Amino acid sequence: MIIVMQRGATEPQIQHITKHLSSRGIRAERLDGHDQTVIGIVGASGGYDISAMSAMPGVQDVVRVSSPYRLSARSSGHSEDTVITLSDGTRIGGDAPSIVIAGPCAVESEDQLRRTAECIRKAGVRFMRGGAFKPRTSPYSFQGLGFDGLELLKKVSEEFDLFIVSEVMEPAHVPAIAEFTDIVQIGSRNMQNYPLLRQLGNIRKPVMLKRGPAATIEEWLMAAEYILSGGNEKVILCERGIRTFESSLRFTPDISAVPVIKQLSHLPIIVDPSHATGRRDFVSSMARAAIAAGADGIMVEVHPDPDRALSDGAQSLTFELFEEMMSELVRVADAVNRPLLVEPHKRIVDSIERIMDKARQ
Ligand code: PEP
Ligand code: MN
Repeated sequence: MIIVMQRGATEPQIQHITKHLSSRGIRAERLDGHDQTVIGIVGASGGYDISAMSAMPGVQDVVRVSSPYRLSARSSGHSEDTVITLSDGTRIGGDAPSIVIAGPCAVESEDQLRRTAECIRKAGVRFMRGGAFKPRTSPYSFQGLGFDGLELLKKVSEEFDLFIVSEVMEPAHVPAIAEFTDIVQIGSRNMQNYPLLRQLGNIRKPVMLKRGPAATIEEWLMAAEYILSGGNEKVILCERGIRTFESSLRFTPDISAVPVIKQLSHLPIIVDPSHATGRRDFVSSMARAAIAAGADGIMVEVHPDPDRALSDGAQSLTFELFEEMMSELVRVADAVNRPLLVEPHKRIVDSIERIMDKARQ
């Protein structure tokens, strides 16, 4: 931090500032120019909010010179990308293959989930999303199946060998939801729910932290700091569109957040083009843009019958559109040297082999 004094600040005003700092144990270096003085803070400020001094007599400005986020920053102590390793060795971030997370906005029924799982698994996808606790704008809208929805996710994901991504909204639910999922999602509305973020610092499961629709990148990284400083280093950022003056889409996809995050932070970042655009006809192009910009993966909503979905139908891909998106995305991912993680399902491979064996006999 540097405190810039006004031109013409009096000597008593300058001394008042330096004494104020030293009385709090903060080391300050004074630099007198021809007609202006600046005071540099050396070392830590011990939690004291120096920016609050901007209203003191004689102060022109308080300028921050180092980033306020420490653990999420790409710095000399942490220049390498964070790579998150899941139970079977699957990696997210760094130079690992780009991941695709796909599934319905909300878990609605076993049939809906199983059909979606089959579709995404045929395309080689390893991660299934599905909200069991839904943060809805209206209290009268479908709120999700709760723990019954999580049970369904668990059952279907085991059947199809899928990792589960699902959202937690309440601090008290964190331990239980961490048991049911492989990645715990924090929705955009809860990006600044600090008691919830603190709870996530206590678990060992990876956390996917969505950007608030009106949050700056700095605020987003500060939110990540709550989880990291609690001892959970497995944080994945998720860009999901921000609110701007542009009204043609639900939100404005901020693809530029990808290279900015890559420069500022070592954390993996994925992009959610479904919530960012709000319309299924724009999801595929934004998914390609995200991977081309260097994202570590994408997350999209897929539904067997989007027009009858209980939430976010307009942005949910049909199975056909999902397959089309995947075939286009594979080529972009290969072109930028971040091939997609697409693994055939063992059961599907086995059944193909059985058919081939029969044909050979
Ligand atoms: C979601 O991914 O289910 C969701 C509700 O998205 P967001 O928090 O970005 O609105
Ligand atoms: Mn949704």
